[in-house]
Amino acid sequence: MSFLPKNTELIKQHKKLLLSLQNIDIGLFEIHSKKEPILTAMKSSKDKMMDIEDDSRRDNEEIAKTKIELERLREELVKFEKDKQVIEDNLLSASNSEEEEALKRDLDYCRLEIKLSIKKIRDVNNLHANLKRDIHKRDQDSKLQQEIFYDEHEKLQKLDEKISKEEESLQMERDELTKKLDPAILQEYEKISSCNMPFIAAGSIRDDVCTGCNILVTPIMQVQVHEAEDWVFCDHCGAFMLFVEKTKDKIERFPKG
Ligand SMILES: [Zn+2]
Repeated sequence: MSFLPKNTELIKQHKKLLLSLQNIDIGLFEIHSKKEPILTAMKSSKDKMMDIEDDSRRDNEEIAKTKIELERLREELVKFEKDKQVIEDNLLSASNSEEEEALKRDLDYCRLEIKLSIKKIRDVNNLHANLKRDIHKRDQDSKLQQEIFYDEHEKLQKLDEKISKEEESLQMERDELTKKLDPAILQEYEKISSCNMPFIAAGSIRDDVCTGCNILVTPIMQVQVHEAEDWVFCDHCGAFMLFVEKTKDKIERFPKG
């Protein structure tokens, strides 16, 4: 790139800086990949805790409802008993057989109401007791579960804090490093980074191939990179070509000279 500064000393120095920058970016990328599942797990354990709280609230509302219904039925029963008493008193002082028949019918009806009322109270009472028993059992299970989720959440939180600190210090290191870089070169690096994966913006030629895209690099380019008089970029992936490296294997197989 013709617009990048090309002083030989500056190029040499910047190659090292770019490589360090890339190592930091790899570290940051790894931290992000570690953080993501932790945050997801944290959210899920929090959701589970909230579900348990919701269930417990609903159960208590249900219990409260049966209690109110029970009170209402008991009051109703007292009223029927009073009615019955009144009818029985009236029956004692009935003046003719017609009135007596009518009062007896009322009494039968009232007794039926009382029977029904007692049956209803028994049913609601049973329901109330069953609910209480179920809720008590569920509450015990929930408490245990809640403790497990709470512990899990706390562990994840600590892990997240630890990783966040690592991230922060790495980010600070990056900020310091980027201050040392020529702005045009940094901008170019960031541009390539955003197109490629972050760790192949600063590439090298290793055993004749680009470390960014694994495609063979021409011998002319290798010489250019080796002499380091100008910036060289991979024709395929656009990465900076910083160094020419030979691995041990290759050197043994293709000895120099
Ligand atoms: Zn490449």
